[in-house]
Amino acid sequence: MTPPLDLATRAVHAGRDDLADLGVHALPIDLSSTYPFSDLDGATASLDALVSGDKTAPNPVYARLHNPTVARFENALADLEGAEAAVAFGSGMAALTAVLLAARADGGHVVGTRPIYGTTDHLLTCELMGLEVTWTDPGGVADALRDDTCLVITETPANPTLALVDIEAVVAQAGGVPVLVDSTFATPVLQRPLEHGAALVMHSATKFLGGHGDVVGGVVACGEEWARRLRGVRVATGALLHPLAGYLLHRGLATLPLRVERAQATAATLAARLVDHPGVEAVHYPGLPGGDPAGLVGRQQDGPGTMLGLTVAGGYDAARAVVEAVTLMTPAVSLGSVDTLVQHPAGLTHRVLSDGAREEGGIAPGLLRLSVGLESADDLWADLAAALAVTLEAEVATAE
Ligand SMILES: *Cc1c(COP(=O)(O)O)cnc(C)c1O
Repeated sequence: MTPPLDLATRAVHAGRDDLADLGVHALPIDLSSTYPFSDLDGATASLDALVSGDKTAPNPVYARLHNPTVARFENALADLEGAEAAVAFGSGMAALTAVLLAARADGGHVVGTRPIYGTTDHLLTCELMGLEVTWTDPGGVADALRDDTCLVITETPANPTLALVDIEAVVAQAGGVPVLVDSTFATPVLQRPLEHGAALVMHSATKFLGGHGDVVGGVVACGEEWARRLRGVRVATGALLHPLAGYLLHRGLATLPLRVERAQATAATLAARLVDHPGVEAVHYPGLPGGDPAGLVGRQQDGPGTMLGLTVAGGYDAARAVVEAVTLMTPAVSLGSVDTLVQHPAGLTHRVLSDGAREEGGIAPGLLRLSVGLESADDLWADLAAALAVTLEAEVATAE
């Protein structure tokens, strides 16, 4: 028996099985909105199959039902996650919405763990989906379950505090209720939640999977039964990933392991230097002493990751001064790009939350979130240290 291929190898080759037969080297982009048929019965059979959630059919019929470029990306991502299938959507939030719409058939209640991505929190809290939600910390999932709980939603590493959640512990508490893990921050390079009992793993593909800040998309990897339901929702609601985006995401997967490993090494360097900086009150990074109290790095997550948080001494105003002072890092929301991004959760990504929810999630007014990119660690450190020096000087001036 040949040993299974390493993830780095699969990242380059997965989802490309049909290219040799097609006689092409690069991923083909199929932009068709409709597909001609030669026999009506064949087209009818394909339509029926795709509407009921089948993965493929001889004729895609119409772009809302199936697209071969997107399907190749889905196959590749499923391979990396160790899943039977993956279903891609127009954004991460469209992917989550599809899961919620599908899960609703099983009950009207969802349990979510905080902290979590700000818009996920908002989508559930605003009751737009017609689902009731109980928020809890990851240890409180069992107590939050009801007879009509259809889904447990968790995120690890959590946004923006980088707290790690023990997936197996959440799955054990959930009993038979399916658990969805938002694994956007970890990517399949560092974490494969299905190996730990999760039923569904979602990614905002906009982030690391694309990796270059030029594509918006979302994807859910899961068993074929869930995938059929999700494809059914996608056909009905039309929350499609565009084939050009599918192409870019699939191309991005090839360099994903390399990008994550390099950014992770730089993040570890920056985190270690920030710990000793007088302008920084706290550094949130799972690779630091005390940053991973449950010992999940190594057991669940293959490394400490590429994201880090720092709480600037001096609160909201000092944090604002830092994001306005950096010159190399990009002050912007989002993450997972080739360039380093810095953003202020209390002012931007987690602004939609109530003050109470922010406090509950440990999101301090002075917290900044860094998505470390591929620049040199020394260049990034020089930029950050200079920006922090500006706030230190301002603080001294105020004190005088
Ligand atoms: C960005 C993000 C989302 C939402 O994805 P979009 O592609 O922006 O819709 C969900 N979860 C996490 C952790 C994210 O970072």
